[in-house]
Amino acid sequence: MSEDNPEANQKQVTRRDFLKLSALGLGTLALKPNEFSNTTSDKEPTNLPEPEDLLCVKLVDREHPLEQSFIKEEIEPELKPLSQFSPEGFLRRADVTGKVRIHSLVVQPLEDLLIASSIAGVDIKVRSGYRSWEEQELIHKREGEDNKTSMLPGTSQHHTGLALDFTTLSIGNVAKEGAGFEKTREYEWLVKNAWEYGFVISYDRGHDGITNESWHWIYVGKNVAEYFQALRKNGWESDVFDLQKAYLEKRTSHPIRPERPVGGGGKYKLE
Ligand SMILES: [Zn+2]
Repeated sequence: MSEDNPEANQKQVTRRDFLKLSALGLGTLALKPNEFSNTTSDKEPTNLPEPEDLLCVKLVDREHPLEQSFIKEEIEPELKPLSQFSPEGFLRRADVTGKVRIHSLVVQPLEDLLIASSIAGVDIKVRSGYRSWEEQELIHKREGEDNKTSMLPGTSQHHTGLALDFTTLSIGNVAKEGAGFEKTREYEWLVKNAWEYGFVISYDRGHDGITNESWHWIYVGKNVAEYFQALRKNGWESDVFDLQKAYLEKRTSHPIRPERPVGGGGKYKLE
């Protein structure tokens, strides 16, 4: 293991993983080519697909904060620490702090993403996942209330357990401004492939003219990510927050079916 030669280290890990995956017969599965099954001609979000879970399309931002009780009662019981998984497995090895917790909805998709990216020879790690109200409060205080990108407790996508900060060894396993994640092969791989596993980037193309975070991605479910990808391909310029806003508006005028979401037992509300 050498910090000075991350390339060599990456290759070692990759070859070992690939051998293991080949033995499991998983290599061909994860190597299937990217294909759109969603052939929407939508140029804006009008024919929204059913979300896997309403939490996946829940808008969380400054104007739509989560309540502290929602985070405690609805999200926290669903959290899975990556450290609980097998040390040999991809999930635990991707956790660079040993403290990352994610929503149960993301466990399988994240593992699939890690396997596929590892086969492709890139080294994706996870710097952070779920963040509690108290943790966000500390960050907000530390960054200072005047900082334009500092977010109040309740307003961070990390509270859902569906947002992840990705990183890689070649930038020192950090996820922050100036670290250069956007210049890595890992970022390039995510841009091309993450939608296939249900992940989309939150802040790109100057989301609000201030925030631009190459490392911050959110799980919206495969069909929604695929739809989002198709919209973008058709020239839609907006971001995932706008897509979630469209779900919120649809919810207000016509209820999204099924009323009881598949994964969440009907407990999430969009409002
Ligand atoms: Zn983040």
